Amino acid sequence: MAKMYLNGRVAIVTGGSRGIGKATALALARAGADVVVNYVSRASEAEAVVAEIEGIGRRAAACRADVSQAGEATALVDFALGTFGRLDILVNNAGITRDGLLLRMKDEDWDAVVGVNLRGAFNCTRAAARAMVKARWGRIINVSSVIGLTGNAGQANYAAAKAGIIGFTKAVARELGSRNITVNAVAPGYIVTEMTAGLPEGVKERLRERIALGRFGEPEEVANVVVFLASDLARYITGQVIVVDGGMTL
Ligand code: NDP
Repeated sequence: MAKMYLNGRVAIVTGGSRGIGKATALALARAGADVVVNYVSRASEAEAVVAEIEGIGRRAAACRADVSQAGEATALVDFALGTFGRLDILVNNAGITRDGLLLRMKDEDWDAVVGVNLRGAFNCTRAAARAMVKARWGRIINVSSVIGLTGNAGQANYAAAKAGIIGFTKAVARELGSRNITVNAVAPGYIVTEMTAGLPEGVKERLRERIALGRFGEPEEVANVVVFLASDLARYITGQVIVVDGGMTL
């Protein structure tokens, strides 16, 4: 990815302390952006990402906020505006899983997953859109999942939230298009992060067999698509879902 595409831009990456969010924060910085690295619990990991970005020669700052809480999401956006003076790119990446079969799924597991993955994206997008509308420029990239397209036994809450993200992306793309703000989603397949680390080996092996490219994805391979969508090269793409799954859901 050529370097200069995001010079002068400021990005927020929710859940930027590790996994796909960390790779995305670093990739945006390498492309020239300054980055607010959001986290909820792992301050030292977020600070390490900030230090790495500063090593690249870009500005960065960590900001704790639970995106499922509207007030904290607004404070996150205000932090970005206060620290860097503008906000051009929002990556709604923060996510959690609380898997379980439907008949045994607890209310708290439903609410937690929908709260972070879907409501979190709504909270942050609503807060960020104000600044983007004023500036007549913006890029919003929502991290969905192939599970939102195909469903998965044991993940009714997660599938609903990730499918919800897709409808949300399309609706907001229509609302904000006239203000030169694009809104797109990426739908990763199986990416090697802490979220997927706990799966039993047998399950991993069966999953791998279904992937055309024959391997799991790396966080950077999702991050590259986010950078593309954030760049000027993608200026005529909005309301789309880009699947990054090595051909798993072909
Ligand atoms: P990780 O579990 O590795 O990281 C999750 C990140 O989200 C952490 O930075 C964590 O912060 C942050 N986070 C969790 N809850 C909140 C919250 N309430 N407010 C703010 N931040 C929060 O996940 P991945 O990197 O694997 O996943 C990133 C995104 O990609 C998620 O939306 C996930 O659903 C999606 N995805 C992942 C796939 C995969 O195979 N890994 C496949 C498809 C989609 P902290 O470090 O402070 O806890």
